[in-house]
Amino acid sequence: MNYKLLNPAQLRSPVNTLCFFSFSDDLIPYKTAAEKKSLQKILNEEGFKGKENELIKVHAGQGIATRIILGGLGKSGSFTKEKLRRVVSKVIDYLKSTKIKEAVFYVPDLIDNDQVVESLIEVIELASYSFDKYKSKPKKTEVTTITIVSSTKNKSVIDRALIFSSAAKLVRDLVSEPPSNLIPENLAQIAKDIAKKERLQIKIYNEKQIKKMGMNSFLGVSLGSNKPPRFVHITYSPAKSKKTVCFVGKGITFDSGGLSLKPNDAMQDMKMDMAGAATTIGVIQAAARLKLQVTVHAIFPTTENMPGQGAYKIGDVLRASNGKTIEVNNTDAEGRLVLADALVYASKLKPDYLIDIATLTGACVIALGLDIAGLFSNSDELAKKLIKAGKQMGEQFWRMPLEDYYFQEYMKSDVADIKNSGGRYGGSITAALFLKQFVSKGLKWCHLDIAGPGMGSRKKFYIPKGGTGIPARALIKFLENLES
Ligand SMILES: [Zn+2]
Repeated sequence: MNYKLLNPAQLRSPVNTLCFFSFSDDLIPYKTAAEKKSLQKILNEEGFKGKENELIKVHAGQGIATRIILGGLGKSGSFTKEKLRRVVSKVIDYLKSTKIKEAVFYVPDLIDNDQVVESLIEVIELASYSFDKYKSKPKKTEVTTITIVSSTKNKSVIDRALIFSSAAKLVRDLVSEPPSNLIPENLAQIAKDIAKKERLQIKIYNEKQIKKMGMNSFLGVSLGSNKPPRFVHITYSPAKSKKTVCFVGKGITFDSGGLSLKPNDAMQDMKMDMAGAATTIGVIQAAARLKLQVTVHAIFPTTENMPGQGAYKIGDVLRASNGKTIEVNNTDAEGRLVLADALVYASKLKPDYLIDIATLTGACVIALGLDIAGLFSNSDELAKKLIKAGKQMGEQFWRMPLEDYYFQEYMKSDVADIKNSGGRYGGSITAALFLKQFVSKGLKWCHLDIAGPGMGSRKKFYIPKGGTGIPARALIKFLENLES
């Protein structure tokens, strides 16, 4: 998509397709006479109320534009960028259904013009996305040029919006990729290619090296697959760094459940079980492109979880790299096993913040639904920062309790230090408590359970079915907020 930025005085009418916005209490938030006149005529005829997500398309025929699209933003006093994102995604859905090649978006003057324009471009990118590389006849969006009319003079908003949205699109692509194409070696190779392009350091450990590091919890999970595991560590270290953040992502490229085999229905989306790992790649790529003054580590263990010959068994005891022993009572609770060793590894880097991202538990989806990620943290400060960044980007985190007593009650093993599954009750909490055992004391740590929002089971505004890219944009914003 090509983007052009114009100030209102530069707009040469008539244009072909023009999109305006209205508030329910300020139907014509534009100053120039020509726009006021065209809009008033439409409003008189169509009874448009400017309500949230309201959309009308009018063939104006002549005047300022041939076709006018009018999107509602609700009350002006309670405007949010998310309301803009949602109505714009409806405009894009409409444009996709037409042969329109160019469109002009006329942004009303708001408090945060730069940010509004940035959100607008970002959501146009996100809403235009489709994963169609395996379609023999891909349905392409016809729109190629978007002109944005706004009083903002800051052209860098275009680049910024493209950096944020391309991170999410990268994650979407990776999550949606068929699992036999995206095996652990390939995911590591993609990380390597991106690292090379962005001039990031990268270390990829093979199974021998993983064994040498004592990561037997991670290795245990990989035994049932004939595809070798990989442990990936990418580093972005700018010259003037203000903080260090470690992201750890779960990278199960396919989760069959192992010997605790999932039924067919529960296995449908299990190519997505590497969404956490994909998120770490998208985030570090964006950090480098934005030249953020924050050191970022993206770390992910990646393997399949399969029930093949040699698979780890119920009753096995695995020794993680910090010496803790784990009795396996459910091979489908494999995410925490691979993350355990990765969290031990990341703790040694002594970051200011350690954040893991994992499609970890079905229990979290039962608790919070498809759109909200569970947030577990030992640090009020870190939790607040993440929730704030999520709000800014329209990605929701809900803080859940790390109730230590549940660990005593559900996670104790008769034969080892702990067991890997605490059963059904509070399943997302006991999973988080398990992870906590592998984080060094004193570190500010947060676990994001994205089992719900990591993969869209239905389209929702600009979030497609399939890989969603959540919560990459929120995490990039979190890093950016650390700079100020
Ligand atoms: Zn599993």
